[in-house]
Amino acid sequence: MLLWLAPSLLSQYVLDVLAVGPELRMLAIRCVWALAVALSALRMDEHSAPSMRLHTAFQCTVGSLCFIALVLVSGGCDGVYFQFFPCLPLLLCLIYPQDSLSATISGVLCGAGAAVMLWMAGRPPSQVLLWVGVVVTVTLVGAYGASEFRKAQRAENEGRLERARREALESLAISERRRTHSEKLATIGQLAASVMHEINNPVAFIGANLDYLEREVLAEPREATREDLAEVFRETRMGVERVRQIIGDLRGFSRMDTEEPTECAVADVVSDAVRIARLRLHHVARLEVDIPEALPPVLAVRRRLAQVLLNLLVNAGDALEARGRDGSEVRIIGAQEGGRVVLRVEDNGPGFPPHVLPRLFETFFTTKGPEKGTGLGLALSRELVEQCGGTLVAENREEGGARLRLEFPVGSPVKAAS
Ligand code: ADP
Repeated sequence: MLLWLAPSLLSQYVLDVLAVGPELRMLAIRCVWALAVALSALRMDEHSAPSMRLHTAFQCTVGSLCFIALVLVSGGCDGVYFQFFPCLPLLLCLIYPQDSLSATISGVLCGAGAAVMLWMAGRPPSQVLLWVGVVVTVTLVGAYGASEFRKAQRAENEGRLERARREALESLAISERRRTHSEKLATIGQLAASVMHEINNPVAFIGANLDYLEREVLAEPREATREDLAEVFRETRMGVERVRQIIGDLRGFSRMDTEEPTECAVADVVSDAVRIARLRLHHVARLEVDIPEALPPVLAVRRRLAQVLLNLLVNAGDALEARGRDGSEVRIIGAQEGGRVVLRVEDNGPGFPPHVLPRLFETFFTTKGPEKGTGLGLALSRELVEQCGGTLVAENREEGGARLRLEFPVGSPVKAAS
């Protein structure tokens, strides 16, 4: 980048000719100066700070010495170039603003050069001091300007880095949210058949009740009593309510959430998950929930934690499917162990085969085949639990079946468990 300096140093020989006439020694000095700058610029590695520093120091030293030589050849302290001694440190600060070395080296050399020339010419000490003072002052101004420039440059770089970091974090958060969302939809997709069945039942008896009501209202004489009709209306309303409840649960569940962790009552989270999981489980197993009332709250995003539990319950349902409903059991047990809240989701299905157990939390690991499993449920569940400062581990129960154990730090000061 500094290569351009070499030809410009050489071309300034025109100024020498105008100032003092053709002078080959000045041309020779400029050739040495330009050559040194060109060689150094070619060897300088702009990505390495030590290399930049070394070459800056070299170029400033050579530049200052060559300038002193030019002043000497052009007539010393009476020559035309002597007046420019204070300018050189300033110019070098502009060319090499990356550190204060340029100003220091050229300031010291130019100050000393001017002082020696004046001293040798027999000038009074006050004049020597005046020139040294001028060179020092200009050098300090140059160094200050360069340091301000560096500060501004650093602030700009930091701002750019900060912006890039924030953008990267934002896009990470967005893709994370999308991933969580697609897993939620996949879980709901796995539940689809049960959901259809569950909605179909009330819709079927609502339809039958409407037929009955139509017949009875239009019939003359009417057979049904007022109590019979009231009972049919009550049943129909219950059916509509059931459908609305299922749709509400699913809608709430599939919404994207961006919430921050808050204190969640474990029983509420479990009941969110259980309401939906029952759609799947009640064909395949008995579901038992045992959450002590005194269990302290945990710090978590309620819907995400409910999603984790739903994943585990759907998995338990899948594991028990082949066995038939009789004797099949899924249990959710909550307990407080020291400063932690522990939730165990257990089933009495086949458990985890030895080759499956070490791979359970790998993304895309599934034994269910591509049409049924995504292999994301457990991996994502563990991630969501860990984001709340918790842990999720899997083990086989001694009595047979699988156990998923979730542990969370309590969300508020630990209450004594009753
Ligand atoms: P997917 O359910 O899409 O297969 P998961 O990550 O949820 O993905 O589960 C990975 C694998 O773990 C399942 O394919 C299954 O083999 C096994 N698994 C999960 N839960 C149980 C369980 N309760 N009993 C037996 N095996 C299970």
